[in-house]
Amino acid sequence: MMDLLKKHRDEIFDHYPHPDIIRRNTGYALDRMCEMDPITPGGRPFNLAELLCGSEGTLAMTASAKVNLVPLPKAKTLVIPQFTSIREAMRATVEIVKWNPAAVELVDDIILSATKGNIEQSKNRFFLDGDPKCILIIQFEGDDLDDLEKHAAGLASKLKKLGLGYAHPFLSEPDKMKRVWDLRKAGLGLLMGLGRKSPSPTFVEDTAVRVEDLPDYVAEFQQILDSHNTSCVFYAHASVGELHLRPVVDTMKPEGIETMKQIAGEVAELVKKYRGSLSGEHGDGRARAPYIETVLGKKMMPLLRKTKEIWDPEYRFNPGKILDPKPIDSDLRFSPDYNRPDVPTAFNWRKAEGFDNAIEQCNGAGVCRKLAESGGTMCPSYHATREEKDNTRGRANLFRQLFSGKQKEAFRSEELKEALDLCLSCKACKSECPANVDMAKMKAEFMNGYHKENGTTAGERFFGQPEKLYPLASLFAPITNFINKQVPTKAILEKIFGID
Ligand code: SF4
Repeated sequence: MMDLLKKHRDEIFDHYPHPDIIRRNTGYALDRMCEMDPITPGGRPFNLAELLCGSEGTLAMTASAKVNLVPLPKAKTLVIPQFTSIREAMRATVEIVKWNPAAVELVDDIILSATKGNIEQSKNRFFLDGDPKCILIIQFEGDDLDDLEKHAAGLASKLKKLGLGYAHPFLSEPDKMKRVWDLRKAGLGLLMGLGRKSPSPTFVEDTAVRVEDLPDYVAEFQQILDSHNTSCVFYAHASVGELHLRPVVDTMKPEGIETMKQIAGEVAELVKKYRGSLSGEHGDGRARAPYIETVLGKKMMPLLRKTKEIWDPEYRFNPGKILDPKPIDSDLRFSPDYNRPDVPTAFNWRKAEGFDNAIEQCNGAGVCRKLAESGGTMCPSYHATREEKDNTRGRANLFRQLFSGKQKEAFRSEELKEALDLCLSCKACKSECPANVDMAKMKAEFMNGYHKENGTTAGERFFGQPEKLYPLASLFAPITNFINKQVPTKAILEKIFGID
């Protein structure tokens, strides 16, 4: 590594994203390594851990990690300027970062309006003045609340003077600040939960440019969208120049796939033009890896390959990520070959707008893989087994694959029945999953169909009608209890009804 970095140091600096971009995660972090001593004498001490960050498991497997902690701030305050255009908000960001904020988050009207129909989140819209095109949520942190409030008021009046934004509320009550952040978080979750209406896949999400380039970059990005007659959700960590942009394309139509490929290529060129980073914090993954060469240039690819081969000469770790990716349109979840399920159901699935929509709701984020230590309840069966098939995502994937492939026949699936066997129907996923997947309801629907197709066992019939059997048993309670305690009865109960 040392030889490679020393030999190509200047070239790497020339080709990699601008060093002012804090969140840059395209390819391997060779530029970060080159900043270190002895590659750059007097730089940070040499530490290979930085190379592993963002390497997406393609170089090594982390067995343990020592993390650095920072103290929590004693006081916080929020300023929330509201705008009539994204470009205006981006211009405001250039001024805002001079005030040293801890966070500046851009939230657009599409995300905000997703919260309108949600009972809980509509109460959290208290700080909005009308229907802004977008807002910036700016957080200041420090030790003294009075100082922070003065600082926040100073920024609000500066933005007013500059004519940036039409409303500039600021607040410091912890409860209200929490509600603002809840709204932002929920807006995105609700948007992800829109299933087929959700603008996906997220193929150019996560680009980052310098903050001063944001207004022009966003304007040019918008031009690309206009030229393809599409639109986009704008969501950004604006203070670090990072944008989560999600153009709407329909990959279930061949022309939608073509549009996605064209936009991906054009955005990669745009990122290169601004010396930005194709991925800021999420990693290149499979969607962006095909465009690393466009952004870093042909000359950098042999260096990335050499890096891979130094660490993993047999290419064992996470193949197809960063290097040798498949084309962007391979393995699409929703492709022209996808058959939307069309099956009779017992529930009417009004809220989800159809059973087909409900089973497509999981966006694969994998929040259901969190363990009990992270808080929350979802998903108890996964906590116990740690198997993908026993979490909400695993089940949702199986639902989608089986029903889109087999349609009504999927109700006979033993595989899906087994995957649902440990689901407790606790409904934790309905509230904790960012896409609000309601696995308990899906399970009920499946089990109804399964029983219709396959009939019911004696045990299921027994437990299915307690209102008839239990009153009868209680009439003769002493006799019933006596019989139940006998060894042969127990054996019969286990054999016929599955009761241990
Ligand atoms: S309802 Fe089922 S899938 Fe959802 S969290 Fe509970 S056990 Fe997991």
